[in-house]
Amino acid sequence: MDVQMQDERGSKRRREDQDEPQRHDILWFPDGNVVLATDKYLFKVYKGLLSMHSSVFKGMFELPNVGGAIGGQNTGGVVQEEYEGVPLITLVGDKGEDVAHLLRALYERRYYKCYDSNTPLDVVVAILVLSVKYDFEDLMRDVVRQISGQFPMSLQSMDLVVGKDENIFGVDQLVCGLRLLEAAFQSGVEALLPILFFFCSNALIEDIFQLSDTMSPGCLHTLIKGRDRLIFKVNELVSDLPELLKFDMEESECLRQRRCPSEARYKCLSGLSKPFFFCVEGEDVVKDHLIHACANCRSSVVKSIEERREEIWAKIPSYFGYPGWEEMQAKLDEIENS
Ligand SMILES: [Zn+2]
Repeated sequence: MDVQMQDERGSKRRREDQDEPQRHDILWFPDGNVVLATDKYLFKVYKGLLSMHSSVFKGMFELPNVGGAIGGQNTGGVVQEEYEGVPLITLVGDKGEDVAHLLRALYERRYYKCYDSNTPLDVVVAILVLSVKYDFEDLMRDVVRQISGQFPMSLQSMDLVVGKDENIFGVDQLVCGLRLLEAAFQSGVEALLPILFFFCSNALIEDIFQLSDTMSPGCLHTLIKGRDRLIFKVNELVSDLPELLKFDMEESECLRQRRCPSEARYKCLSGLSKPFFFCVEGEDVVKDHLIHACANCRSSVVKSIEERREEIWAKIPSYFGYPGWEEMQAKLDEIENS
């Protein structure tokens, strides 16, 4: 064997060592009785605690062969081996960083604050995906409640959130929405999906494509399809405004009964041709586009536009293939109160 070949083999071995998962700094308890392996980290933790919180781990530990020297046997995505005398379980497909977030949430009381809107998005996503996958019931309930708190299923609440220049879970709104959407879609948490699909629809298509690199085709397909339907409805609402103006002022106790019906009109409605549902809020439409109408007529028009927005809002889940908001809220309540 020449020197060059030896060098190549040596550096290959070093690379392999570097690629091997390392013991996690915090989640390595010397008296732990199971080692969980991921791409990046090894965690030495306790079977009892995992069993107490997760029915999947409980079931796994109850299998007669866990703890035996069953090298490399694959049991439905989980490979059982031994590591320094304790069972080694390889968590296939889970990222080390994500598992660290989940385990730290279990072991450190102050690590995961489910009532904090500033919890880092990485933590929220990791806990959502892994708590569903391994059935950590309490954590799943907490994280679903936390997400639904930021994305409430009502038009009035959403009007206060969508399109505002505020971060959610520490990152830009659309970045946050798209990552949570993908995570909820992959995990099958249906109760969160229509509101997240709606939320992510209020964006330019180029931004959606730019930020959806890792999104599954099925999720992206549903998003784009539903977004198109929503835009169609928004355009319809805007196009009908001039024709419905007199009708919309009918309920008004008009201060200028002769002048409003003949003089009131919209200006620059083309400014509303944007793919954003929040742009057609009644107050904004009237403030920016309605002229020559008295205060009473204006508030009557606002009310009529909001009624039409409510009609669209009620159908939004169906644009993405889901039943109505009430059914979604019932599913959410079921998770949150389980
Ligand atoms: Zn009037």
